[in-house]
Amino acid sequence: MIKKILPQQYKFSEKKVDVFFDVDFSLIETKVSKEKLIFITDENIYALHKEKFSGIKTIVIKPGEKFKNQQTVNSIIDQLINLHADRQTFIVGIGGGVVTDIAGFAASIYMRGIKFAFVPTSILAMVDACIGGKNGIDVGVYKNLVGVINHPEFLLYDYTFLETLPDDEWINGFAEIIKHACIKDKEMFHFLEQHSIMKFQSSLKDIATIVKRNVDIKYNVVLNDEQETGERKLLNFGHTIGHAIENTSKLSHGKAISIGMIAACHISEAINNFHKAETKKISDLLTKYELPVSFSFDKQKTWEILLHDKKKSGDNINFIVLDKIGSASVKPISLHQLHKIFNSI
Ligand code: ADP
Ligand code: ZN
Repeated sequence: MIKKILPQQYKFSEKKVDVFFDVDFSLIETKVSKEKLIFITDENIYALHKEKFSGIKTIVIKPGEKFKNQQTVNSIIDQLINLHADRQTFIVGIGGGVVTDIAGFAASIYMRGIKFAFVPTSILAMVDACIGGKNGIDVGVYKNLVGVINHPEFLLYDYTFLETLPDDEWINGFAEIIKHACIKDKEMFHFLEQHSIMKFQSSLKDIATIVKRNVDIKYNVVLNDEQETGERKLLNFGHTIGHAIENTSKLSHGKAISIGMIAACHISEAINNFHKAETKKISDLLTKYELPVSFSFDKQKTWEILLHDKKKSGDNINFIVLDKIGSASVKPISLHQLHKIFNSI
């Protein structure tokens, strides 16, 4: 008899999401009938894992954030029409954060919404992008400006995809893992200190442990604040300055937020009594995971983008600061003071 694989259930107010950790990709066909399935993936993943897509209708998009736009959505919709997708169609986005964001968005608007699920294949998508129900696209320089909140039916984690993940994408994903450790999980911070990317790459057991732990962290934060009025903001640690740097430089998201986290540590020292020694520990950990902690960037341009990005309340800006490693809070800071610290980093 075939052993039935039971998912873990993550309950959001409007949806229960089944999460299958550490399973084989082929499990999908026991969940959804083949005729109803349409896969969406990108060219890289399609080329590297062709055998997984055989016999299933598959839409292949161009890889990278550059293509997370309305034009790609239009092309997906055209292909869904050509494939005779109807209300019974079930879309599965298989890929990194770009694929899951766009697949979830396309599924949510096609015929006013059809069912969908995700198979995250990058560390970043596994621990961050595919949890929380945010789906959408970028418009010009504005990241995730257009989108919907809509949870998938299920998430499936098949860690064998990671065997082909480029090193740079491992590094990118660990920036979000370190972020989670900084804001929520001191114990995980220590665990990370004792590991390295190479160790994780060679141990499926360790990667399974760390991914599950990060899914739990993100899930709990989202669950505590589905409307994004408080706790969920903590997930933006390192992202205020990080996003602005990402926009003005060619740095990847992970690398930009790594610098953003160090900047946020300095701001935490200035306005929240955060210890310098802890900033050093975070800086050492980021360096261990091959992430940059400083970078020469166009300060003027980055500051302008930051101002534009942020919802300002008067002369203050709400900033995510650390209290200590494993605990964060939101504190108002005057734009004047922020600018001063920003210029000194
Ligand atoms: P994210 O970093 O948000 O996950 P992407 O979806 O753009 O963003 O994925 C990052 C890059 O990694 C893309 O070029 C994508 O094609 C590639 N990628 C994702 N998963 C894998 C994988 N398992 N094997 C090889 N390349 C992958
Ligand atoms: Zn991020």
